[in-house]
Amino acid sequence: MAPRIVVLGRQGAGKGTQCARLVDAHGIIHVSTGDMLRAAVAAGTELGQQADAIMKAGDLVPDDVMIGIVGERLAEADIMENGVLLDGFPRTPAQADALEAILADQGNELDAAINIDVPLDEVTARMMARGREDDTPEGIARRLELYEEQTAPLIEWFSARDKLVIVDGMGTEDEIFARVEGSLGLS
Ligand code: AMP
Repeated sequence: MAPRIVVLGRQGAGKGTQCARLVDAHGIIHVSTGDMLRAAVAAGTELGQQADAIMKAGDLVPDDVMIGIVGERLAEADIMENGVLLDGFPRTPAQADALEAILADQGNELDAAINIDVPLDEVTARMMARGREDDTPEGIARRLELYEEQTAPLIEWFSARDKLVIVDGMGTEDEIFARVEGSLGLS
């Protein structure tokens, strides 16, 4: 079985932790578009040069660029065999439409979009507690606001296609992982 899953969740919702656990337990391939772009910036590729300023400004890399990168990655053998956890993509309804088309071309479809749900005041408190340099109250508020703006239409998009699964992200790591596995039919 090669599940194809989109992972959504606010910063501080525990998305990274839960992705890592799904990789460990089920061998699914984690694809983070943010990681791919940061690697391209570090390597100084053409894509990296194009993305660098956009990322620094907190804007979105153009849809056609992102769709090209993800389309190529999704065609690779490891993903065809083991499935994929998409993290950071899609970010716009146009990217979601393209994802649907890419998977349909492969004769596949998305299994689920899982939203790890943690209330705003709780993620804010978690980010304040980790004390990273960019975790000022203003910085946190701005990133969460942007996420809300970008993600609300996607939640609708997945929900309209009966793909949206909401998991309560409050509790211990183990409790949340059990919910994640259960909601994806992986337990
Ligand atoms: P992330 O690590 O997912 O927060 O992504 C870091 C940055 O990379 C974002 O702020 C965007 O500038 C860019 N980025 C990552 N994924 C996408 C995407 N799917 N579409 C557009 N830009 C993206």
